[in-house]
Amino acid sequence: MCICKIIKKEKECYLIYESDTIMSFLDVDPINEGHLLIIPKIHQSSIDKIPLFILNDMIELSQKIVSALTQIYKLDGYSIMQNGGDFCEFGHFHLHIFPRYQDDGFGWTYPQGPFEYSMNVANKIINYLK
Ligand SMILES: [Zn+2]
Repeated sequence: MCICKIIKKEKECYLIYESDTIMSFLDVDPINEGHLLIIPKIHQSSIDKIPLFILNDMIELSQKIVSALTQIYKLDGYSIMQNGGDFCEFGHFHLHIFPRYQDDGFGWTYPQGPFEYSMNVANKIINYLK
């Protein structure tokens, strides 16, 4: 089930914001109170497939939402997360935004290295960006 159903109004949500290009609503399985999503209205799983003007709308709304959450929840910080490709749940690009507090227990797990940290790694990416 994709969140496209929410865009098409086939599934209900706690809507926060909607424009021609984007929507924002509460996450159905929140990490904590205030956890919400911002999505484009086009079905794409990866940031490199989303037109820049839509990403801009998403970032502009993120800024307003962070200000709102900061005022409402007296938070210590916030996290904005986005998983792409195979790691994008339901294959539809979305930003998670949620309040953060000191010692809130949120974290991420990842394999320990060794990983190479060198100019060689940076150059691989730099060369692709040229
Ligand atoms: Zn979709």
